[in-house]
Amino acid sequence: MYDVIIIGAGVSGSAAARELSRYNVKVCVLEKSEDVCCGTSKANSGIVHAGYDAAPGSLMAKLNVQGNRMMGQLSKELEFPFQRKGSLVVCRSKEELPVLMRLKEQGEENGVEGLEILNPEQALALEPNLTEQVEAALYAPTAGIVCPFGLNIALAENACENGVEFHFDTEVESIEKVNRGFLLKTDSGDYRARYVVNAAGVYADVFHNMVSSRKLHITPRKGEYFLLDKGAGDHVSRTIFALPGKLGKGVLVTPTVHGNLLVGPTAADIENKEGTNTTGDGLAAISEKAGQNVRNLPLKKVITSFAGLRAHEDGHDFIIEEAEDAPGFIDCAGIESPGLTSAPAVGLRIAEILREKMRLQQKPDFQGQRKGILNPELFSMEERNRLIQEQPAYGHIICRCEMISEGEILDAIHRPLGARSLDGVKRRTRAGMGRCQAGFCSPRTMEILARELGVSMEEITKAGGGSGLIVGTNKDVL
Ligand SMILES: Cc1cc2nc3c(=O)[nH]c(=O)nc-3n(C[C@H](O)[C@H](O)[C@H](O)COP(=O)(O)OP(=O)(O)OC[C@H]3O[C@@H](n4cnc5c(N)ncnc54)[C@H](O)[C@@H]3O)c2cc1C
Repeated sequence: MYDVIIIGAGVSGSAAARELSRYNVKVCVLEKSEDVCCGTSKANSGIVHAGYDAAPGSLMAKLNVQGNRMMGQLSKELEFPFQRKGSLVVCRSKEELPVLMRLKEQGEENGVEGLEILNPEQALALEPNLTEQVEAALYAPTAGIVCPFGLNIALAENACENGVEFHFDTEVESIEKVNRGFLLKTDSGDYRARYVVNAAGVYADVFHNMVSSRKLHITPRKGEYFLLDKGAGDHVSRTIFALPGKLGKGVLVTPTVHGNLLVGPTAADIENKEGTNTTGDGLAAISEKAGQNVRNLPLKKVITSFAGLRAHEDGHDFIIEEAEDAPGFIDCAGIESPGLTSAPAVGLRIAEILREKMRLQQKPDFQGQRKGILNPELFSMEERNRLIQEQPAYGHIICRCEMISEGEILDAIHRPLGARSLDGVKRRTRAGMGRCQAGFCSPRTMEILARELGVSMEEITKAGGGSGLIVGTNKDVL
């Protein structure tokens, strides 16, 4: 019996878990995947939006601006990569100028600071690769970029260090209201809790509708991307947005916190809540649209493509509240963009709802600081040599594209909620994220995982479940 069960270890569930871990309360997170950050939180633009997009007065607008303000301090407490680089929305015709002006007014209504309309000379001075057709641009200095995996993993790790239990490979199949709480049936047994937080991403409607007669409906809205090599990373210095359209913010071009260039996403409503495949049409649409606002995009430097699903609820706002007719069931639904930006504020709001309902008391021993994985690249040569002498694994490079050593991989495996798969190592260290996309380092990372976890090479997967990489090996050869 738990006080609170959170469904989903994405950025929303992990932020709620971390905020709740400040209190004397027994919390458990149930996640169907093998790791944190396996849903939409791993496949997005990684932008910390300034907050001019959402409709004034909406919960989305409020939590966007609040989350943006919290991100700097949080990145220091939890050591994940975040840079406040600013963003530009590009307007290419005089007819569209009122739309840009309206966006600025909307941002000001939402409380976004420092918004400015730039003329073409000012915009091109900031971003020389902008299209020469630029008529004006909305500059938002408070926008930023964040490592989505870094943020999600840091929140979850810190929650775990403060006593929250995480149960992976545990798929919730049904929820029933029972005496004094809820019964959750999963593929690994039954769980009971007095309160449930429904942070199941694109599946949040399914769980809500199991306990409430006021139905929600979430449409998966697919966004596809190209990721470009680090050689293209400085093509722009800030996030470059198109003017927003009916289905969202349009195709953007942005540097990432790790120095790559990201181009996308598309926006297409689909039926399949697992439909994260990329498509020929989607990628062709990115190629066509990306060049409209940024010149000479080096699309030959694409190293991979991927897609994520926005959890678009029909009302187009975040729903973070107790379900009217299911006391104790707290929805965290419709968390589409800017859900990553808003996550710190989403976590806070969920914890506030439960603090009041459950009269929670603060824990005196809450530890809010978390050490990130040590990155020797940030060290001077002298410091790096000292580290290698003390711990030789840091001198053994495993991923040559990203220069990731065995030391970092060992840290990723042995820390709280450590990596158990190739993708788990990749999201924590970047081993396998570079130009060769794990072509060279996969076998070496697998050997380390097998050795450290005490399992055979056949048991190492790419991403849990049935994604094993080796079958039918001759053990004598290995
Ligand atoms: C294309 C795209 C671009 C975006 N760009 C940005 C951006 O730049 N900035 C920004 O702020 N936001 C952005 N977003 C939005 C942001 O990524 C999401 O709002 C956020 O990641 C949602 O997090 P979540 O935890 O609510 O959902 P998820 O990350 O999807 O987490 C839900 C979790 O629930 C688990 N789950 C589901 N069903 C079950 C079950 N039955 N049992 C157990 N576990 C279950 C899933 O496995 C998953 O781990 C973007 C989204 C997309 C798709």
